[in-house]
Amino acid sequence: MIKDRLQQVRKQIDQAERLAQRQPGSVCLLAVSKTKPITAIIEAYQAGQRHFGENYVQEALGKQHALGAFDISWHFIGPIQANKTKLIAACFAWVHSVDSLKIAQRLSTQRPNQLPPLNICLQVNISHEASKSGICLAELPELYNKISKLPGLCVRGVMAIPAPEIEYERQCRPYRELYQAVMRLDQAQFDTFSFGMSGDLQAAIAEGSTLVRIGTALFGERHYNNDDVNALNLKASEPSP
Ligand SMILES: *Cc1c(COP(=O)(O)O)cnc(C)c1O
Repeated sequence: MIKDRLQQVRKQIDQAERLAQRQPGSVCLLAVSKTKPITAIIEAYQAGQRHFGENYVQEALGKQHALGAFDISWHFIGPIQANKTKLIAACFAWVHSVDSLKIAQRLSTQRPNQLPPLNICLQVNISHEASKSGICLAELPELYNKISKLPGLCVRGVMAIPAPEIEYERQCRPYRELYQAVMRLDQAQFDTFSFGMSGDLQAAIAEGSTLVRIGTALFGERHYNNDDVNALNLKASEPSP
């Protein structure tokens, strides 16, 4: 049951906050629903969950369309292709995966005027071999300076996806390094550290996470199936009634 898993994860977050002597409730739970059906989102919603994360634009649009009456804050957390920025700028409240000035400029000009600024996190690549996405730490100050001046965007913080590690201390290290680097940036007013997934949420919270992105622990393993993705793409491209 998703309701029970949600309770379990919330309990883990509470516990990690307490262990780290963090303020209770200071860590937001983002439910990562990519590849999962709309029914799973509704089940989590009915148990009180309001923030949902998606990685694929077409899949997300199909879900948003079906769930238009629900009070959901949608977060885009996947790699961003330039030809998708217009849809992302129009349909999400948050984007966690901004890693270039060009993408930020497009999101800035394409954010509809009637919407509040798009909340963004700069994705930093802290385990260099693990992923091709994200800027390196040395680029952060300059990129922050440029992006923070763009209208229509609000730079809230940083996001990181370190290489998976089993051992707790090894999980902590990259988050600690990035957190401390951000604290040394005196011009940055970050209130968001998008750190932690199902396998390392305790370590992430110990090292300053304010938002954990949890998929598997809430919804179970993901099964990637091309037919499902195609079905969702078709649904998303249907005209609104
Ligand atoms: C899929 C995904 C998650 C969720 O990962 P789990 O290990 O299933 O909790 C978190 N963050 C990002 C960026 C993801 O793509």
